[in-house]
Amino acid sequence: SDHDLKYPASPAAMDWSQHYPAFAATVPAGVPNDDPIATPDHDKQNHLQPISKQVQVADIGCGFGGLLFALAPKMPETLILGLEIRTSVTEFVQEKAKALRVQHASTGLYQNVSCIRANTMKFLPNFFVKGQLSKIFLCFPDPHFKARKHKARIVSTTLNSEYAFVMKPGGKVYTITDVEDLHVWMAEHFAAHPSFERVGEEELEGDECVGTMRTETEEGKKVERNSGTKYVVVFRRLEDPPWP
Ligand code: SAM
Repeated sequence: SDHDLKYPASPAAMDWSQHYPAFAATVPAGVPNDDPIATPDHDKQNHLQPISKQVQVADIGCGFGGLLFALAPKMPETLILGLEIRTSVTEFVQEKAKALRVQHASTGLYQNVSCIRANTMKFLPNFFVKGQLSKIFLCFPDPHFKARKHKARIVSTTLNSEYAFVMKPGGKVYTITDVEDLHVWMAEHFAAHPSFERVGEEELEGDECVGTMRTETEEGKKVERNSGTKYVVVFRRLEDPPWP
């Protein structure tokens, strides 16, 4: 059940500095902490320490974080977040991020990666504001084969509108699965959504994230060992049409 899930009432209520302490915004020297300009009211009320940038990459259902830890050193200035529903798995990823930060203290790598426990089917807009994300990864989501369970899939007309909301125009949703039926389902649902257009094969070949997603996810490795097929589809968030 979701009763024990903690989630912020809105993205402004989220304490990101705990997840990315190296990116916590420092108050400029000589500015007292109670300066109303340096510390906006909403931060004071929530006792939140602001961070210097927003999360831009989300791995939904990140599992043990193979993709997160492969992407982090490739884009060290971009904040990357895994969202995972299983408590023990979330804790594993958080601990691994901490250990890697210590191991790589001299280079500062892995400061940009973290994980939170969340049911992404319910609370995505609680974590991210409109237009915040430039990449969303949906890697080997649980398929839920039975027709009556289709609403439990993480791609649907309703959820695609949530992904569209939190994504910036030009941003991309990356999907990969070894289940053909789910692949077709995801491709059809994004294609039918007015906020997305499918990215062509040529562009995919030149996109480093596609290769990383194929080889670095735990599931991707498993499918590789079993010589299975990996279906990849990527969609781009379109600009919103002008108001009539
Ligand atoms: N993405 C990883 C990979 O490719 O190796 C893990 C794939 S695993 C098959 C699916 C993951 O999604 C599991 O770790 C599961 O706990 C998580 N999950 C399922 N439903 C979820 C939800 N509603 N919100 C967040 N995570 C979820």
